[in-house]
Amino acid sequence: MSEKDKNQGAKWRRQTNLVRGGQNRSHFDEISEAMFLTSSYAYDSAEQAQRAFKGEEEHYLYSRYGNPTVTAFEDRMKLMEGAAICQSTASGMGAVFASLACMLGAGDRLVASKALFGSCDYVCTVLLPQYGVETVTVASDNLDEWEKALSEPTKAVFLESPSNPMMQVLDIAAIAELAHKAGARLIVDNVFATPLFQKPLELGADIVMYSTTKHIDGQGRTLGGAVLTNDEDYYADHMRMFIRHTGPTLSPFNAWVLTKSLETLDLRVRAQSASASELAHFLTDLAGVGKVVFPGLESHPQYDLVQKQMSGPGTMVVFELDGDQARAFKFMNALNLIDISNNLGDAKSMITHPTTTTHQRVSLEERAQLGINENMVRLSVGLEDVEDLKEDIAEALKA
Ligand SMILES: *Cc1c(COP(=O)(O)O)cnc(C)c1O
Repeated sequence: MSEKDKNQGAKWRRQTNLVRGGQNRSHFDEISEAMFLTSSYAYDSAEQAQRAFKGEEEHYLYSRYGNPTVTAFEDRMKLMEGAAICQSTASGMGAVFASLACMLGAGDRLVASKALFGSCDYVCTVLLPQYGVETVTVASDNLDEWEKALSEPTKAVFLESPSNPMMQVLDIAAIAELAHKAGARLIVDNVFATPLFQKPLELGADIVMYSTTKHIDGQGRTLGGAVLTNDEDYYADHMRMFIRHTGPTLSPFNAWVLTKSLETLDLRVRAQSASASELAHFLTDLAGVGKVVFPGLESHPQYDLVQKQMSGPGTMVVFELDGDQARAFKFMNALNLIDISNNLGDAKSMITHPTTTTHQRVSLEERAQLGINENMVRLSVGLEDVEDLKEDIAEALKA
């Protein structure tokens, strides 16, 4: 067991931490991180069990509370994000729900962005109100509207930037300030930005969360989630007990897959983002394609804010086809290489039609408000040769 591995993190640079951070070798001195598929742990004596339960001796108790493989993943995530605390969960939605439900109760006020991933919108506007939480949504990126929504005492603010699918970018630093004035903690869903290109905690957010199912796995194998924060009180007073007693725990097998995925995260996402940029420009000039939305294009409505707040554009490109839903379907069906799938962040490129899949629950009126049209498709750019992706798109457009 080498203390050596665990304690280096502070002095290593980010990419080194992504490869080695959190490793805690067993007495076999394995190179690849070990996997501890165990639900429970043995004690040397009844006295030791008593000390462990009292918190007087460090010892794993039960894998709903903690597991060495899960700890290794959380330690690597902490080093990546520059956060003191990481709580992993069984899925991204587990992270979203835990981050909110652990601290909200009847009578509390939640301000949420309207431009959210469908399930996040459901949690904020349907589920939490069932428990007496008052949710107010803000559809616009206009800070005056955020200021108005945050003019009353508020417990939590939840937003996503860039948003799914329209890439609405919100000013995280400015909203953090407004949230704090209202007495709220700001939670940022950073999935679309990816951990590479946006640092919500540095911008003033209190909590950042990921669906690790997306870029962090990056190869379509596991579901997972993570909540990261430097707010010790939030973890100690709310999150820790919520996770322990409700059980949205990440499995050690998935934690192991995700730990190994972090080793290549930086390389993968940089390559995917470079291809996404190339495809966004390619699509802009292509006949048969209408509006293209990508944070790296100067035509993006919040391009200046993107430059200020993000260090790269991400891996998602949204575009409209000249025509209606039937045209969009025809185009998607004619693709040979790019898969039709609602997942994202994968090594394999995927395309989806939001108004009939991820956003079919959103009313026509709200879709119009968010600019989500029926001729629009969302492309998640993978790791294939970008020339093959261009050819696939160009040929499908001829259909
Ligand atoms: C996928 C996704 C989630 C939910 O994550 P799961 O791992 O699917 O539960 C939440 N937010 C965003 C932005 C997502 O893309």
